[in-house]
Amino acid sequence: MDDKKPLNRRQFFKSAFADIARAALEFNREKKNLIPKVRKILRPPGAVEESLFNKLCTACNECIKVCPHFCIRGSDSEEEARIGTPILIADKAGCKQCPDQPCITSCRDGALRPVQDETVSSIGLTDKW
Ligand code: SF4
Ligand code: SF4
Repeated sequence: MDDKKPLNRRQFFKSAFADIARAALEFNREKKNLIPKVRKILRPPGAVEESLFNKLCTACNECIKVCPHFCIRGSDSEEEARIGTPILIADKAGCKQCPDQPCITSCRDGALRPVQDETVSSIGLTDKW
């Protein structure tokens, strides 16, 4: 198209619409870059605050072994949490909040501690939350 020739009404709207669509696309692209990638990682119930948890947890895997619902796994990437430390698999298995809290009683290192108030959901959060 000749750039110097004035646009007719149809061409004008077509061109304006294309500009708006381009701007919207660019805006969305930038918005995506601005949104931080949040990793949603949970610790098992009774987990103490994350920095203390990392000092205490020996990654012994006991809490993982005793969970009857297979909802804890060991971290396999430093990006999510220290390797081997327990992570609650919330999206697939889901913690059933066992009344006898076997995960907590299995922890001999104080990283998971008894939840006194049964009405409080005490699932721990890692610092990557
Ligand atoms: S409360 Fe029960 S289901 Fe939840 S993590 Fe502990 S052992 Fe597994
Ligand atoms: S039982 Fe305690 S020390 Fe062992 S992996 Fe679980 S939280 Fe860590």
